[in-house]
Amino acid sequence: MDVKTLKKWLQLFTEKVVDNKQYLSDLDTPIGDGDHGANMARGTTEMMKAIVEKNPETVTDTFKLAAMTLIGKVGGASGPLYGSAFMGMTKASMSSENLVDILEAGLADIQKRGKAEIGEKTMVDTWAPVIEALKNDELTVEKIQGFAEATKDIKATKGRASYLGDRSIGHIDPGSQSSAYLFEAMLEAGV
Ligand code: ADP
Ligand code: MG
Ligand code: MG
Repeated sequence: MDVKTLKKWLQLFTEKVVDNKQYLSDLDTPIGDGDHGANMARGTTEMMKAIVEKNPETVTDTFKLAAMTLIGKVGGASGPLYGSAFMGMTKASMSSENLVDILEAGLADIQKRGKAEIGEKTMVDTWAPVIEALKNDELTVEKIQGFAEATKDIKATKGRASYLGDRSIGHIDPGSQSSAYLFEAMLEAGV
């Protein structure tokens, strides 16, 4: 991965989040507090602003700046979780250029922070199958969207949506959808 491609990835991610801000908040309305789109649009926009202003020159410095701005600007549950993901990727990028290694480190830090396993209706349910598919060299945009959509059938046992119990079933998890944008952007950027 080179720094130019990483910046392209983050820019496409930001565009997707901003374009779908309302949709992400709409997903968060029935099973949360309706702010996921606003949180993510604010955080990713600030992230891109920081990247343009500070112009980091390495992959590691770019991941780190992304992590810091996401932690500081997204807020809610997802801010620290995306921040952890990007800190994990920052650390991994110091010793590996392999995308699977880097994403696995991101997922590990999401799980260290949020204690969610697969099947709890969180962003983990997009990250984990995306990494599996990537390992098998079979990741596509359709699959990514399918992983986010599959969270509909899950009963939430972590995060705000877990307060609803069975009533959380039937809705896509907002953090899984924003993570789907992250990975669609990754494919589009050719990372
Ligand atoms: P908040 O719930 O504080 O309003 P957001 O709406 O921005 O925060 O983010 C909610 C998303 O965060 C959920 O859709 C879910 O994907 C993710 N999330 C919440 N708790 C966890 C957790 N423990 N582990 C992983 N992801 C989580
Ligand atoms: Mg919310
Ligand atoms: Mg909130």
